[in-house]
Amino acid sequence: MSEHFDLVLAQSRMIAPTVRHMAFSRGDGASLRFVPGQFLQIHFEHDGKALRRSYSVATYPGDVQNPDGLIEMAVSYVEGGAATRLLSAMQSGERIDASGPYGRFVLHENDANRRYLLIATGTGVTPYRAMLPELERVIAARGVEVLLLFGARTQAELLYGEEFTAFAARVPGFRFLPCFSRERPARDRADDRSGYVQSVLATLSPNATEDIAYLCGNPNMVDACFAALKDAGLAIPNIRREKYISPPDPKGRAAANPE
Ligand SMILES: Cc1cc2nc3c(=O)[nH]c(=O)nc-3n(C[C@H](O)[C@H](O)[C@H](O)COP(=O)(O)OP(=O)(O)OC[C@H]3O[C@@H](n4cnc5c(N)ncnc54)[C@H](O)[C@@H]3O)c2cc1C
Repeated sequence: MSEHFDLVLAQSRMIAPTVRHMAFSRGDGASLRFVPGQFLQIHFEHDGKALRRSYSVATYPGDVQNPDGLIEMAVSYVEGGAATRLLSAMQSGERIDASGPYGRFVLHENDANRRYLLIATGTGVTPYRAMLPELERVIAARGVEVLLLFGARTQAELLYGEEFTAFAARVPGFRFLPCFSRERPARDRADDRSGYVQSVLATLSPNATEDIAYLCGNPNMVDACFAALKDAGLAIPNIRREKYISPPDPKGRAAANPE
């Protein structure tokens, strides 16, 4: 069930040139109950209008770097963005009005697939970070294979890349495929890919009887991968999507399409 609460900024750091990792506690001291993959909304006023923006929860239980279970998000800065202006200026100790959790972009208990294809661009990778312990559990329980195909322009924008690499090294059955659209790192790793995720997807040979796919991030990427997976025969309920888009503002301006 969703609730309304204050978030108090505890810590933050830049994890890419225009992405801020922000860790909050709840102002009422309660812990947040959420299912990995869900998001929160922040509520704020901008130019006299009440606005809201959604951010996926990146927190996962057992993270040694987050022993207090702070509520983590990765916020991508969008030029001229209303939430960007607010969140990029926020200092430790400051509060923001929030609600949640929301969303059904979560793992399903009853899935019986052989493989998960997790696909993301930009901050769209954060729901998968939150899912890591659950993924480890389902890999151990039923031998499912998990491929994380993550699109970034450069190594500097490969959010949480070291964490996913370490997880892949520790958990057989999980493969991390960083996919660079602009510049591949000099230190080439076997699982690095070049190009856009929607092009590389075909090389993973999507299979209608074995795969369930999750798509998160840039709406154009989500639409392109959805079309490719549908063409490969995947049933629509087996292609689960979260598009990172702003709601139209009260004046009806076009929605944002952040990466
Ligand atoms: C379910 C859900 C979860 C989300 N989770 C996250 C998350 O974890 N992290 C995150 O960073 N975002 C996330 N988003 C997107 C987020 O909610 C905002 O849309 C985003 O932060 C931009 O908000 P803003 O107010 O700063 O910009 P806006 O005020 O909405 O947009 C400002 C202007 O920039 C344009 N614009 C927007 N994006 C881009 C872009 N990428 N390139 C060029 N121009 C652009 C818009 O069209 C507009 O003209 C999520 C969205 C949804 C629906």
